[in-house]
Amino acid sequence: MGLKNRCSVPPHTDLSHFCSGLIKLRETAACHLLAGRACITDGLNLERGTPINSNVKMASSTTFSGDRANERLPKQTPGWAFFLDVDGTLLELVEHPELARPTPRIKSIVHHLQLVTEGAVALVSGRSISTLDSIFLPLVLPIAGLHGLERRDATGNLRIDLATDKPLDDVRERLANFCEAHPGTLIEDKGVTIALHYRNAPDAKDAAELCMEEVLRELGSHFEIKRGKMVLEVRPSGDNKGSAIGEFMREAPFKGRVPIFIGDDVTDEDGFDMVNRLGGYSIRVGNDGDSNAQYRITNVETVLQWLEEYHHAHW
Ligand SMILES: [Mg+2]
Repeated sequence: MGLKNRCSVPPHTDLSHFCSGLIKLRETAACHLLAGRACITDGLNLERGTPINSNVKMASSTTFSGDRANERLPKQTPGWAFFLDVDGTLLELVEHPELARPTPRIKSIVHHLQLVTEGAVALVSGRSISTLDSIFLPLVLPIAGLHGLERRDATGNLRIDLATDKPLDDVRERLANFCEAHPGTLIEDKGVTIALHYRNAPDAKDAAELCMEEVLRELGSHFEIKRGKMVLEVRPSGDNKGSAIGEFMREAPFKGRVPIFIGDDVTDEDGFDMVNRLGGYSIRVGNDGDSNAQYRITNVETVLQWLEEYHHAHW
């Protein structure tokens, strides 16, 4: 059995000063959650952003008109809780993950969803909580980051659950050498996990797989590789998106609601399985790949339109 690290941080904590054992978050994240509500921390009025399209059809039927006629999605009803992947679901995938930023429209959609669900909206992403905080400002949301390894609940309490706290310094150096030898590949260093992207160098896929398999062999049994769209991520074993959603659903304001999870990648399958078990609705973006999701939705834009329809219904 590996060492189990479970760390809790109270609300209103500056995470840059948070250090427990060998775990240290590198960036500052505001933890100013108001229970069950989006918190506007710097006075920015979200309403000044791009207005939500008032022409969006407020349909609650299972089919759409026009270009979306072939889409079948669950009939929208009150009492839902939303769990939203970020990249490829709320944000378009871009060449470099650091370039992906939510527009004022996207922030406005998330904010209004929070208002109509009494705060039952959480981001469930492979990104770190600190990164998501920085790009979704002024919103501060319940978040499961690093594919569920870290989770901040609706009251602002943070926990990080890792099977090992072994440092990844050797892995960083090895992957940096790999990227030098394979132009176009890049590292996304998330502190306790490291992702190797080959979106801009698809020919490097086999070499990247080989490199990561060797890294995993050297790290030992308390680590695993998460495979996503043109990305391989080495991380300590631990919670995943599904277990994170399950934990949220045991707590207010999610408890008692019907969970909806929207994601676009194989790394979201744990989340789909969980909401299926909980009697919710799982929705995968795009038509690529096998999936346990009950529904498919075309792309990021149609996700945004569908979410707009929900909050326009003013439950
Ligand atoms: Mg995604």
